[in-house]
Amino acid sequence: MTSPVLPSHGRARPLGLAQVRLTGGFWGHRQAVNATATLAHCESWMERLGWLANFDRVADGTTGPGRPGWSFSDSEVYKLLEALAWESARTGDPEAEAAIKRLTARVARAQDPDGYLNTCFGHGDQPPRYSDLEMGHELYNTGHLLQAAVARLRTHGEDDLVRVARRAADHVCRAFGPDGLDGICGHPEIEVGLAEFGRALGEDRYVEQARLFLDRRGHGRLRDIPLGRAYFQDDVPIREADVWRGHAVRALYLAAAAVDVAVERGDDDLLRAVARQWERSVARRTYITGGMGSRHQDEGFGEDWELPPDRAYCETCAGVASIMVSWRLHLATGDVRYTDLIERTLYNVIAASPSDDGRAFFYANPLHERAAGRPADPDEVSPRAEAGARAAWFDVSCCPTNVARTLASLHGYLATSDDDGLQIHQYAPCEIRAELPGGRAASVDVETAYPESGTVRVRIAADADAPWTLTLRVPAWAAGATLTEGGRTLPAGPGVVSVRRAFRAGDEIVLDLPMAPRFSWPDPRIDAVRGCVAVERGPEVLCLESLDLPDGELDTLVVDPGAVPRAVPGGAVVRGRVLGLDGGAWPYPPDPVRAARGEWFDVPLAPYHRWARRGPSSMRVFLPLSSAQPPPEGE
Ligand SMILES: [Zn+2]
Repeated sequence: MTSPVLPSHGRARPLGLAQVRLTGGFWGHRQAVNATATLAHCESWMERLGWLANFDRVADGTTGPGRPGWSFSDSEVYKLLEALAWESARTGDPEAEAAIKRLTARVARAQDPDGYLNTCFGHGDQPPRYSDLEMGHELYNTGHLLQAAVARLRTHGEDDLVRVARRAADHVCRAFGPDGLDGICGHPEIEVGLAEFGRALGEDRYVEQARLFLDRRGHGRLRDIPLGRAYFQDDVPIREADVWRGHAVRALYLAAAAVDVAVERGDDDLLRAVARQWERSVARRTYITGGMGSRHQDEGFGEDWELPPDRAYCETCAGVASIMVSWRLHLATGDVRYTDLIERTLYNVIAASPSDDGRAFFYANPLHERAAGRPADPDEVSPRAEAGARAAWFDVSCCPTNVARTLASLHGYLATSDDDGLQIHQYAPCEIRAELPGGRAASVDVETAYPESGTVRVRIAADADAPWTLTLRVPAWAAGATLTEGGRTLPAGPGVVSVRRAFRAGDEIVLDLPMAPRFSWPDPRIDAVRGCVAVERGPEVLCLESLDLPDGELDTLVVDPGAVPRAVPGGAVVRGRVLGLDGGAWPYPPDPVRAARGEWFDVPLAPYHRWARRGPSSMRVFLPLSSAQPPPEGE
């Protein structure tokens, strides 16, 4: 079975990647661009910057000072290998297969006889192995190697990449096992890699090593740093934590691994701990886009309600990692709140990152950009994560390869099955060919223009001799949804809606989700956006770009909360006007500012994931309300 995540048990089973095929639409298009542009783009940048040659230098014994790339640059090669493995299996593309062999050969040559594999430590005059567990990323790199090997193992079987990964994993188990170093990696990832590698090979000792790393964490084994031990989640044991904190990607990779270990060990306490952390973090530390991380200084979570839109970090990788956690929690529990959050994150973080041509990316995904960005030079490495324009590559370039591996395996996240039926979670044109126990075919074709349209047509593709249940997720925002089947239309959800019978080929079930644009009101405790409102349409968060305002001035626009947003092609309009504010010498006068107001006009909003695609623009998601301003005198 081919799938990025295959727990040995759980309430829902992922479908294999061979059982689901995206046939076009919003995600099919992005998956195709990823395949035809992004993968080669990533390899060419890593070649150009010497990140691939780092492996050659280790193999040739020519490492020296000035090694290019950060200590985690090896992991980008492994994430690309993972993406290529999914892609090669999806399409049989000979170029993807050739790239896997080419990259694997270079990686394999750099492996030490005892299985250690890293281009930044332990060779020539480099620092000794495991001499900087806090920031060295050695085990983090290995974790990504294992995830790449899982992709290869499940789509192709044992090959050189899998053999390299096995030697590396065995080395880690010897070096950090019960009789080895009592340490952990500052950046979680080895845990989720080991757990899945163990599942893929059916070798429990790798899962056990992941459990050992998890249990060691949270007791202050890592050196304290100015950002504090919460930065790498070494402040509180994961079983005792109530909320995610510190570096967002680290916190989320760790949580994903904890679900894996909890499921494999039947450790319900650990599973409940992660579910509890998810609840509170989603309720209080998550942006409307699904983005996570509101502090730039440590790429980390803020306190509860600390969600400034202009300082939102919302790293693309944190979006990927959030999906990893929610997917695992869903598989374990069957709860569709997790797949709801996955949808939000897919449309408003993952889809926002890559450019239309798949050769530039957002790293940070703020909800308010006060100054239009400078168009990025396609030949330049961006030194910064934050920018108002997508960049071809970054000095720290974790996000492009993370997007690549996610899009290449995205069809694995659309649907699940259990003993009784098929559950569809994400709506996209696709073919699903699943088989249920008892030889019942659960084969369906999905036709939809979602999210442009809310109509999802599920057509049964094969006769079943015995009844089975088709379950469709109805998003939490979709109050008023309906389901039509067998000539009857009934209210549906939110939550799930199910139809059970012995389906015949050609039977059609139609889910209609209400796609009228709607206001979304932030909790008043999110101080940074109090007195503001956002607009969403279906799963898409909308935003306003300065390009769409007559004078380009975003700072003085206010909207009328009494006029409901109206749908227009490609987005929505709200009623707004511009305050006539003067630039005072001091922005805190003793009396309220009574600004004269311009005429009301229709303010056009478009999906957030489309922002900055037409050129540099300032942008905001949360729009100040006209009623939150003091009235002008005499009104
Ligand atoms: Zn990243």
